Amino acid sequence: MRMILIGPPGAGKGTQAARLVDALAIPHISSGDMLRAAVAEGTALGVEADGYMKQGLLVPDAVVIGMVIERIGKADCAHGFMLDGFPRTAPQAAALDEALSVAGVSLDAVVLIEVDDSLIVERICGRRSDPATGAIYHLRFNPPPADVVDRLVQRKDDTEAACVARLEKYHAETAPIVPFYEAKGILRRVDGVGSPDEVTGRLKSALA
Ligand code: ADP
Ligand code: ADP
Repeated sequence: MRMILIGPPGAGKGTQAARLVDALAIPHISSGDMLRAAVAEGTALGVEADGYMKQGLLVPDAVVIGMVIERIGKADCAHGFMLDGFPRTAPQAAALDEALSVAGVSLDAVVLIEVDDSLIVERICGRRSDPATGAIYHLRFNPPPADVVDRLVQRKDDTEAACVARLEKYHAETAPIVPFYEAKGILRRVDGVGSPDEVTGRLKSALA
C-alpha cells in the first residue's frame, strides 16, 4: 500500500502512523523526522533546513523533494510506504506524482486527518517525545510513564508562535493540495478528534 497522511500540525499523523505501519508492513516516512535527523547530524541540508523549521516556515521544495523522492526509491519502499508530512505543497505533490509515474506505480490512498484549529495549539504545546524510542506523548492527553519523564524532549518549533505560523502555512500551502487527491478519487477524510484509539479505529475502517 502506497499512502499519504495529511493533516494540520498536531493532527496526530505521527501518533497514528506509528500504530498502523506494523500491521501494514510498510515503512513510516516522516519528512519532519528526516529533517530533524539532518539538523541533529549537522549535514548541509540540516543546516539549511534548521532556520526555516525553528520559525514554523516550510523548508524550500528544492531541498525537501529530492530528500523524500530519494528515500521512497529505496528497497524497503518497493511494496509501499506511509508518507507523513509530505507532500505539503502543490510542487511537492506534482513531483511525487511524476516520480511514481516514472516508477510505474501509483498511490492507493491519501488520508486527511481533520482537527479544528482551535484544538491545535494545546496539542502542539503539550507534545513531548522520547529520544530513546521515538514515542510521542502529550502531557495531558497521552501522559508519559514516570520512568521516561526525565528524558523527554520538546521540539524547538513546538512553541505557540511557531505553531501559529505552521497552521498558517498549512492552510495556505497544504490544504490546497487536498482537491488534487480528491479529484483522483483516493482521498479519505477521518475525524481526528477523540481518543487516539478511536482515531486508529476510524483510520482502519477508512483503509479497509
Ligand atoms: P508537524 O508534526 O507539526 O506537522 P513535521 O514534523 O511534519 O511537523 O514538520 C516539522 C517542520 O519540518 C515543518 O514545520 C517544516 O519546517 C519542516 N517540514 C517537514 N516536512 C516538510 C515538507 N514536506 N515541506 C517543507 N517543510 C517541511
Ligand atoms: P502530528 O504528527 O500530526 O504533528 P502528533 O502525532 O505528533 O501529530 O500529535 C501531536 C500531539 O497531540 C502529541 O502530543 C500527541 O500525543 C497528541 N495527540 C495525538 N493524537 C491525539 C488525540 N487523538 N487526542 C489528543 N491528543 C492527541
